[in-house]
Amino acid sequence: GESEQRHNVVLFPFMAQGHMIPMLDIARMLADHRLAVTLVTTPLNAVRIRAAAWSPRVRVLEMEFPCAEVGLPKGCESFEDVPSYDLMSNFLRATEMLREPFEKLIRQEVENPLCIISDTFFWWTVETGKVFGIPRLVFHGTSCFSLCCLRCIREHKPHNNVGSDAEPFLLPGLPGELTFTRTQLPEFWKVNVELMASGFDRVFEVMRRADVQSYGTLVNSFNELEPEYVDHYKNMEGTKAWPIGPVSLCNRDQIDKAARGKKASVDKSACLRWLDTQKPESVVYVCFGSTHKLAPTQLTEIGLGLEASGLPFIWVVRGDTEQVDQWLPKGFEERVKGRGMVIKGWAPQILILSHPATGGFVTHCGWNSTLEGLTAGLPMVSWPLYAEQPLNARLVVDVLKVAVAIVDKETQGVVPKEAVERAVSEMMGNGEMRGRARELGEMARRAVEDGGSSHMNLTLFIQDMITYKKPHAM
Ligand code: UDP
Repeated sequence: GESEQRHNVVLFPFMAQGHMIPMLDIARMLADHRLAVTLVTTPLNAVRIRAAAWSPRVRVLEMEFPCAEVGLPKGCESFEDVPSYDLMSNFLRATEMLREPFEKLIRQEVENPLCIISDTFFWWTVETGKVFGIPRLVFHGTSCFSLCCLRCIREHKPHNNVGSDAEPFLLPGLPGELTFTRTQLPEFWKVNVELMASGFDRVFEVMRRADVQSYGTLVNSFNELEPEYVDHYKNMEGTKAWPIGPVSLCNRDQIDKAARGKKASVDKSACLRWLDTQKPESVVYVCFGSTHKLAPTQLTEIGLGLEASGLPFIWVVRGDTEQVDQWLPKGFEERVKGRGMVIKGWAPQILILSHPATGGFVTHCGWNSTLEGLTAGLPMVSWPLYAEQPLNARLVVDVLKVAVAIVDKETQGVVPKEAVERAVSEMMGNGEMRGRARELGEMARRAVEDGGSSHMNLTLFIQDMITYKKPHAM
């Protein structure tokens, strides 16, 4: 109704593609539910966001990012622009300095704030919520499965009870009785990376406090995808959680717009026209997310593996054109001409995934990509690289059984071309796996339609916010 229009939801995404993209989708979803949305970010990110076609209900406010103060180069406003690993904690430190300007912006610019939805990294927004007497909601941007695993690893440290990297152990309390080995855990818990572990321990400690103290969590997932883990997560944290995804489905008609990410590096229509000429479900799409650059030796093996598979493919390689040309196997593009397309830079991923000619997805298992693959009903090859990606990989491989795992457990180094070829062929040829993937794709679409679980959860969430607001009205 009209009164709802005056409520203003404050959204504060972490400044990295993989975090920003789903938050922008959430902004649109809230606007579609007739709420006013205020998105707060830094100047360079604001430029990109404003370039998108926005609902008149979404407003973008900006505050300066203190790059210089923490020793980051000028204009380093996005996590993927941080020049080295050592400087990543400086970036996080800079975000902690945003509290004052953030609160000032809300005070001066936001009429009638309803709640704050902010990234898990912005643990201090719990305090901001208290200042304004409104709930703070966490947005994690990963699966409930991974959240459950992370919490369990953090709390019980089961990897400390085994004698070797190869010895399997259970995660106490985790539904499904999956066994893990140390090498299958996210890198930040590998025993020998002491320094990293202590740094991340701190991050996870503050995240945990934020979880416990926040009003609840919005999750980019849907009930039917991982019901036991959604329940387990709620019980474990004793918190409210609303799975409202896949959020990428909320703006199908807008998918093409810049708000989804960087500008594509290929002529989109050429890419789609080429897909139009391919047989249904025949093309392999290969992409490792927005940040990761694989070692040149690994790229060579991927290229040769794809070539040997004989399958049509689209392969996204990060890096500028000149570099990429050096990294590709000799004569590669010439030999695969017509059958394979290499995109050097940013790809229109959602459009490619949802094209009927696309038949499988080789992914690093970043949660956005994973969910986009599931939503498109595609079988996958899981090739996790860092962060919680190894956990998302376990979900698609062992729980949902829609993906083939690539990582060569023997070498843990460069995956050879034979392994690439084998995994890709298995993914494309396994009919049962494809059937399951298709079913999940259907379920994802139903979840966000009127009456679907995610649609309902979003409505319930908004109602919850509005009824909270009444007794607390200032
Ligand atoms: N993406 C894209 N084109 C690319 C690479 C990535 O559109 O060339 C999008 C992709 O659709 C997803 C996001 O960027 O929405 C990447 O997020 P994800 O969580 O998969 O991985 P991250 O980049 O955070 O590692």
